[in-house]
Amino acid sequence: MIRVAVAGAAGRMGRLIVQNVVQDEELELAQAFDVREIGKDAGEIAGVGRIGVPITDAKEMEKVLDADVLVDFTTAEAAVENIRIASQKGVKLVVGTTGFTEEHWKKIEEYCKNVPAVISPNFSVGVNIFWKLVEFAVQFLKDYDIEILEMHHRFKKDAPSGTALKAAEIIKKYLGDKKLVFGREGVCPRGDEIGVFAIRGGDIVGEHTVFFIGMGERIEITHRALSRQAFASGAIKAVKWIAKVDKPGIYGMNDVLGL
Ligand code: NAP
Repeated sequence: MIRVAVAGAAGRMGRLIVQNVVQDEELELAQAFDVREIGKDAGEIAGVGRIGVPITDAKEMEKVLDADVLVDFTTAEAAVENIRIASQKGVKLVVGTTGFTEEHWKKIEEYCKNVPAVISPNFSVGVNIFWKLVEFAVQFLKDYDIEILEMHHRFKKDAPSGTALKAAEIIKKYLGDKKLVFGREGVCPRGDEIGVFAIRGGDIVGEHTVFFIGMGERIEITHRALSRQAFASGAIKAVKWIAKVDKPGIYGMNDVLGL
C-alpha cells in the first residue's frame, strides 16, 4: 500500500484526489491537509463518505507529515512551503499546483535535490500529447505567427495557465527567445512575439489552443478537458510511478508516461 497525503484536500482538485485514492486498492489516504474545513472528515468533504481521516490544518504539516507521497494541489506560495517540508521529511511529491514564479522555482529545485518529485502543470494524458504535437508542428512552421489561447473557470487564481506557459516554453525552445505578449491593447503592431490570452468564466475545466498562422492558412492544435478526472487520473498514475523512484530530482509526466 502506498500511503498518500493530500494538500489542498478541501479544494476542487484535492477532493477529487481524495476520492481517487480512497477508491484505489493500491493506495491508502494517510493524511489530508488544508486551510479550510479543518477537523472535518476528508472523505465526507470529498463526497465518498466517512473514512476516519480528518482534514488537518496545513500549519501542522511540518510537525505531523508522515506519508510515502504528498500530492499537492494548493496555491503557488503554499506549495513551495509544502515541498520544503516534504523534502525535509523525505516524503516523495506529486505537485499539480501552478503559478510558480522564477523565485519559487529556484527554491523548488533546491528542495527537490533531496527527494523525487513529479511536478507538472497538467497531469492529463491528452495535454501531454498536445505538448508533443505543438513541439512537432513548431519545427516545420518556424516562420508562422504563433498565438496561444487558454480558457478556464471563473475561480482560477493564476493566469495565464501553467499549461499555456509550458506550450510557450516548448515553442521558445525551437524559435529562440521570442517575447511573450500577454494580451494586446492600443497601437501594437505584431512583433517577433507569441501572444498569450486567458479567458476566465463559468465552469470551463480547461481548454488550450495553439494557433500557427501563415499567409492563407492556419493550423490550430486544441485540447479540451471535459472533466477534472483527466487530471486526477494522471496524478494517481504519477503517485504510483514516483513511489518506485529513489533518485531525487524533478520529473515530469513525460517520464511517468514514457513519452
Ligand atoms: P482550489 O479549489 O482553490 O483548491 C486549493 C485548496 O488549497 C483550497 O482549499 C485552498 O484553500 C487550499 N490551500 C491554500 N493554502 C494551503 C496550504 N498551505 N496547505 C494546504 N491547502 C491549502 O484550487 P484547484 O482548482 O483545486 O487548483 C489547485 C491548483 O492546482 C491550482 O494551482 C491549479 O492551477 C492547479 N491545477 C493543476 C492541474 C494539473 O493537472 N496540474 C489541474 C487542475 C488544477 P483557500 O481556498 O482557502 O486558499
